[in-house]
Amino acid sequence: MSFSFDHSQGPTLRHDPLSNRQVYLAPRRAARPNDLVNYRKIDCPFCIENSSLTPDPVQQWPSLEALHWKSRIIANRYPIVEVGDPATEIGGVAQSAMTTQSNMHAYGVHDVVIESPDHIESVLQIPFDDWVGVWTICQQRMKQLSTDSRITWATIFKNGGVQAGASLAHVHSQLIGINCIPPTISAKCDQLIHRPALFRNILSDANNQDRVIHNYKNFVAIVPPAPRQPFEAWLISKEPCCFFHTENQSCVEDVARFTQHFPAALEHLLPGASYNWWLHQFPFISSSTLHRAAEHWHWHLEALPRITPLAGFELGTGYHVSTMPPKTAARLLRDTGCWK
Ligand SMILES: [Zn+2]
Repeated sequence: MSFSFDHSQGPTLRHDPLSNRQVYLAPRRAARPNDLVNYRKIDCPFCIENSSLTPDPVQQWPSLEALHWKSRIIANRYPIVEVGDPATEIGGVAQSAMTTQSNMHAYGVHDVVIESPDHIESVLQIPFDDWVGVWTICQQRMKQLSTDSRITWATIFKNGGVQAGASLAHVHSQLIGINCIPPTISAKCDQLIHRPALFRNILSDANNQDRVIHNYKNFVAIVPPAPRQPFEAWLISKEPCCFFHTENQSCVEDVARFTQHFPAALEHLLPGASYNWWLHQFPFISSSTLHRAAEHWHWHLEALPRITPLAGFELGTGYHVSTMPPKTAARLLRDTGCWK
């Protein structure tokens, strides 16, 4: 299905004044391939034999020069945000945005992380050492973005499966850096400013309420106090730390373990279930007010199964509805035996 509108327009960040909600408008993404089921391996741009179809990598494992690469990061062909001159990208709209803030050029960097040279669909098929390599190049890319004065905040996210928004079967995730702080992060900063011990309390409450799934060397995997879906899980740094890219090798290996343990446990409990995960780190650049939260921030990964779709009540109110008590979810996840 296609509709007639200008697909060449650069991305913009639009503002709804009534709800104070912002929406990225990215018309070029309408041309994305989305034939997840029928996409043929021979046409897959992420397979190593088709490397010439994609841009040169910005990061690659084990090295930028490697012909037989194990993983690589390339620019997204259908980005939500783009580097570019606002004046040339959206002309008069950008100019008016400077006064109304209603339509801003969506500045940023949007990459694809190709997690395997082979046409496989699950992170569980990736050997652990290669999976550590994936997180290592993500860390290197994040370090690059953190030095760009135009990038305010960045994340890595995974759409695992059709229900989670994946458009290509070949195993991959995405990395995005933007020039604003998302409402989810601002809200957490506000909470931390008023309750500096919040992360410590979240970890101790999880322990006291039997919601710990697994204790890693540097992190704890827990079911959060108010999970949005059954089996939602968070990986939280034990010590205060703002950023993933400043962590040592031991931490990267823990992240690699969790991001294979969680999908394995979910697959054990609900075969074929889709899931997302995303990284919540502190902004690279923040206001003096928000910066008061920096010393209390524990960066974390949130992993969310996509078992039931968002329905009218969730969309209309912002409240999620789940069916499984968090303590039960933690026990079932632990009992899969997938955490070592
Ligand atoms: Zn492929």
